[in-house]
Amino acid sequence: MRVDQIFHEAKAAGRAPVSFEMFPPKGELTLERAHTAAEALSACGPDFISVTCSAGGTGNSSATAQIAAMISHDFGVSAVAHLTGIGLTRGDLAERIEAYRAAGVENVLALRGDRPQGAALPEGDFSYAAEIIPALAEAGFCVGAAAYPEGHIECDDLAESIRHLRLKQDAGASFFVTQLCFDNETIYRFLDLAERAGITAPITIGIMPFMGKQQITRTVFLCGTSLPSPVIKILARYEDDPESLMAAGIDYARRQLEDLAAHGVDGCHIYTMNRPSVARAAMAALRGDAA
Ligand code: FAD
Repeated sequence: MRVDQIFHEAKAAGRAPVSFEMFPPKGELTLERAHTAAEALSACGPDFISVTCSAGGTGNSSATAQIAAMISHDFGVSAVAHLTGIGLTRGDLAERIEAYRAAGVENVLALRGDRPQGAALPEGDFSYAAEIIPALAEAGFCVGAAAYPEGHIECDDLAESIRHLRLKQDAGASFFVTQLCFDNETIYRFLDLAERAGITAPITIGIMPFMGKQQITRTVFLCGTSLPSPVIKILARYEDDPESLMAAGIDYARRQLEDLAAHGVDGCHIYTMNRPSVARAAMAALRGDAA
């Protein structure tokens, strides 16, 4: 099913869709291992699952498309295939579109892709995600794009980041998925600003339960998300106790999700890191099961 339709139907029914992100397993047997991960995630009952792709001309977009198609076909769960425009020529994009269509992909998350560390953007015909959205929408995909509650890491001004978000909606994006954020007040301020900037497409909120100090440090340096003091305190308290740290990370995400649901956000998107335990805990929080 198209993701814009999922949001539309859920809103009419007075509920907010819950979605998961997974990534294609690295190394050998990618598809087989993705099948196992997708089966376990699908069993948790998400409204859709999105599948990442690595950026650049040599990215793994064919595995992404195949995994997304497999999720819909084998498990009956709607899927979103990510697609990055960085380093692509117009011809490359047309080829990707054909490949995604041939695989049976219905929904695409249109992204620029991350700048390679310490290097300039690879050469290609597209500088921004908004530039690949029209071709994807014209090809008949339901197109989503990325949003940043604290602004994108390369953009110092949140108002400008929101203007760029609006450009993606104007180009044809019909839903947004946010970067992870650990502070709900920041998310609510961002949603307010986005509404004032004329963003009408649903914005689903990305939540990542933190699993370890190294993982979270790497992630925040990559995407520019802030670490609020309660998170830093948890990281410090359980520095030498990985199991307790993981449990505390899941508990923190559970409290964030409960508050988001009570606040009536358009949807919640869980960065599952391919871990069914993370997905199950998030679903339990959103169903209001006791912790
Ligand atoms: P854009 O929207 O193009 O923005 C990039 C930068 O350019 C921003 O600073 C923006 O403010 C600025 N900008 C935009 N338009 C203009 C303009 N007209 N003039 C001047 N400046 C402009 N990366 C992957 O490689 N694979 C993935 O699967 C993946 N999945 C992701 C999923 C989500 C939900 C999110 C939030 C991010 C994901 N990323 C992924 C990371 C993403 O590729 C990076 O955050 C990337 O740096 C920006 O991508 P974007 O699509 O938001 O870019």
